[in-house]
Amino acid sequence: MSFLFSDIEFLKGVGPVKGEALRNELGVKTPMDLLEIYPFRYVDKTRFQKIKDLKPNGDIALIKAQLISLEKIKGKTNRQRLSGLVKDESGLLELVWFQKIKIIEEILVPGKEYIIYGRTNTYGGKASIAHPEIEEYQQDIAMHQTLDPVYSSTEKLDGLGLDSKGRRRLIKAILEKISERDIGENLPDELLTTLKLPSRYQSMVWAHFPSNENEKNLSHNRIKFEEFFFLQVQMLYTKATRKQNLKGLTFGTVGEIFNQFYGKYLPFELTGAQKRVIREIRTDMGGGKQMNRLLQGDVGSGKTIVALLCMLLAIDNGFQSCLVAPTEILAQQHYTTITGLVKDLPVKVAFLSGSVKGKQRREVLEQLESGEIHILIGTHAVFEEKVVFAALGLSITDEQHRFGVAQRAKMWMKTDALPPHILVMTATPIPRTLAMTMYGDLDVSVIDELPPGRKDIITVHRYESHRMQVIGFMKEQIAAGHQIYVVYPLIEESEALDLKDLQQGYERLLQYFPRPVYQISVVHGRMKQAEKDFEMDRFIKKITHIMVATTVIEVGVNVPNATTMIIENCERFGLSQLHQLRGRVGRGAQQSYCLLMSGDKLSHDARKRIKTMCETNNGFVIAEVDLELRGPGEIDGTRQSGVTSFKMLNLIKDQKIMVAARNIAQQVLDEDPELLHPKNIRIRNYLKSIQKPGSNWALIS
Ligand code: ADP
Ligand code: MG
Repeated sequence: MSFLFSDIEFLKGVGPVKGEALRNELGVKTPMDLLEIYPFRYVDKTRFQKIKDLKPNGDIALIKAQLISLEKIKGKTNRQRLSGLVKDESGLLELVWFQKIKIIEEILVPGKEYIIYGRTNTYGGKASIAHPEIEEYQQDIAMHQTLDPVYSSTEKLDGLGLDSKGRRRLIKAILEKISERDIGENLPDELLTTLKLPSRYQSMVWAHFPSNENEKNLSHNRIKFEEFFFLQVQMLYTKATRKQNLKGLTFGTVGEIFNQFYGKYLPFELTGAQKRVIREIRTDMGGGKQMNRLLQGDVGSGKTIVALLCMLLAIDNGFQSCLVAPTEILAQQHYTTITGLVKDLPVKVAFLSGSVKGKQRREVLEQLESGEIHILIGTHAVFEEKVVFAALGLSITDEQHRFGVAQRAKMWMKTDALPPHILVMTATPIPRTLAMTMYGDLDVSVIDELPPGRKDIITVHRYESHRMQVIGFMKEQIAAGHQIYVVYPLIEESEALDLKDLQQGYERLLQYFPRPVYQISVVHGRMKQAEKDFEMDRFIKKITHIMVATTVIEVGVNVPNATTMIIENCERFGLSQLHQLRGRVGRGAQQSYCLLMSGDKLSHDARKRIKTMCETNNGFVIAEVDLELRGPGEIDGTRQSGVTSFKMLNLIKDQKIMVAARNIAQQVLDEDPELLHPKNIRIRNYLKSIQKPGSNWALIS
């Protein structure tokens, strides 16, 4: 067993206590694990600022100074703070802590010199820094370089001396024990030469201890490239292998049902994009291989009809289909739409969700198993084990990002014959790099065209002070025969508060829109299903003018006569959620509007979200901004798919590297699909070494 993969406890300077902390806090079990946790920034010691030059303006400051004193002070509100006075050759600066006082007190020693990093602010008129990153300055560890690595840490680790300083020492010790040979190269030489990338070993050394910016950049490029390259090789390999090996059902015929529907009952001419996508899907399902396809299309682009046509194809070929939606309301809407569309055809459609119980449920399950039901529409209750199909041929999931990828695999288990074709539909356009990461093993179809006659939704931002104007506008819209949504945020932590907001808003609306002239519906998550359905139904039937709701209506709901979306407390919604909500209007031919209501106090990010919404209706543009603002970890579904677990790669900043890595991975596999060529031996061996038992891409034997 190589030293790099031995127990971290046995590394000199670690031992059982620190070993356990490293395992628990960082998941570090071996020296290699520790090496692969890279610095999140570097301190450039040639760039220390002078205290006298600091301005209390929120800028980042980096100084080297001596700690003069450290004392606890009781503030006016009885809140304790820890105040540290530091001094360099130019002046004095106060450091302040409101939290973790005890531990800071233990670590810092007056008289010693520290490197201090943080944002300046004003505290009593002078510049100060609250909760700075701080570490002891040491000449000897400098190793002649100007950039010192800074590692993310935790209170626990700091307390055990495993802060950046301590970690540097451990990493230095590890690096001293190994050489080029221990960190086996995993990329072909040819590739390293063309891409001008340093070796794997060199990159690791430079990533921790670069002696200049250039070394740092080169090593980062290499590590990021490697991370994404191997992910892409795995995904593309899986995709290719699946295509090659996994036999699928052949939907060879376009039959009676499809043709009848297409000829007689299709309510509108399909858009070019819809036609193209259906062709892509048909080719896929007819080729004898299992389809695994992602269908991306902005809200309102008409994915439902595409789904239906595919399901009709399945019927023509003797198979059942299921269409799964993330919420009950959406599933029911699909059910209503689709039963309506096929009512004159011999197609049996059924509904299944958690709320379908007893006799009704038994009947659905029986008819599914007997094959009587052609199309099953429902929530993820459809994925339950008890649900058995006679011949499932096509599984469609709507708004996939809410499920995560796990369910995708589940549908495969539903049959011991050939697996069903899989179509995943998402209305949240996914930025290209994220799509490559999350869905890199799928084929992708895009509906990039809206049905004709759609007008861009006019979006404006209004403050509370505009309330009367807004009410006036609502009255005009209602007078013109249109309907209105008023949506309140619903965030789990403060559900009670949110409901109060909604309740108050509703009561206020009742004053301006009195019965019986006006009718208002209310729908929120705390209501019983039957009540929700009743209210939804009244709105769909145009009995009510205004629908006051929480985000339960977010996805998919389709009421073309609703032309105005008013989003209350819009600053509390994420960007993609705002876009989804806005997508509830603009579904008919009339001009539609989205009014974003907010309070006066807005954070920088909230402003940017609102501005973006007012500026564009393009879901792809919005998705990019959203990714930029929130970071990939917060985008729905990303956590499950593991895209946040990169060691160094940043999905937003490293798009160029990602695209290059994806393209090169594709080239390598195009040339050598099984990675058998001698020049690809390193790639192959490395993949084998990281292959987890049972992982589904692990097909390289
Ligand atoms: P989404 O892609 O958001 O699921 P839907 O399938 O709900 O969109 O379609 C949105 C609206 O557009 C529906 O009212 C649907 O009937 C209508 N629609 C879809 N395709 C077309 C088309 N080709 N021409 C006209 N209207 C269409
Ligand atoms: Mg939809």
